[in-house]
Amino acid sequence: MACQRSTTEVRSTLVVGNWKMNLLRNEALDLVAELGRLGAVANELVDVVICPPFTALTSLADHGMHGIKLGAQNCHFSQKGAYTGEVSAEMLCDVGCSYVIIGHSERRRDYNETDAEIGRKAHHALQVGLRPIICVGELLEERQSGKTLEVLFRQIDEIVETAGADVVSKSVIAYEPVWAIGTGLAATSAQVQDVHAAIRAHLEEITVSGAVPILYGGSVTAANAAGLFSCQDVDGALVGGASLKAQEFAQIVHEARQRTR
Ligand code: PEP
Repeated sequence: MACQRSTTEVRSTLVVGNWKMNLLRNEALDLVAELGRLGAVANELVDVVICPPFTALTSLADHGMHGIKLGAQNCHFSQKGAYTGEVSAEMLCDVGCSYVIIGHSERRRDYNETDAEIGRKAHHALQVGLRPIICVGELLEERQSGKTLEVLFRQIDEIVETAGADVVSKSVIAYEPVWAIGTGLAATSAQVQDVHAAIRAHLEEITVSGAVPILYGGSVTAANAAGLFSCQDVDGALVGGASLKAQEFAQIVHEARQRTR
């Protein structure tokens, strides 16, 4: 189901690809070249960002990105030091990133990342010039027991408490219901619009700018993108699996362009 979108008020759209732990350097270069050929690049109304594994960042930055921006999938909350296996926000800037995904549900689940840590990461990332894409989302049982907004507001409040309202105002929020990630079971446009509108109202209540872009993530495909982008409070998408397929991702970018025409 498509949502209503006012034609008078048009914000720019952000399409972010999260490649997760996929693609060797040559495969990454081939995919970006193919996206360039398919015209899946930024214009004045649509920003396109891909977030490859750390190992492909330098190769991609060195070979040119066809107007697509680079982001990373995580960073540490400290500037430097004895943190074996970690990568700092400065290092990501150094290799050409302008965005970083923070608090993805896979990191919350697999590495026990807390909202306080996510807030610290967002704070540090922004300080060095990276724009954080802060992920929040509820589990299936939380949605089924009517706790979706309670969970999301608790996550947001703790992140804001740690990072500060100003940092979150300059970030991007990604609403990613955990039950929709990688399952093929995307939330409906109506479910997404309801949650995004509630998040925006809550952000304003806690003195975060209501103009923060709010992306939806969770089984976004070329087939459901148009419906999602037609929602008033959907400012773009965080795309996992479909961002690894050039045609599919290019079509999602195309749908984002249609929305902002
Ligand atoms: C994600 O990993 O952020 C994501 C939304 O994945 P998928 O699109 O595959 O559900």
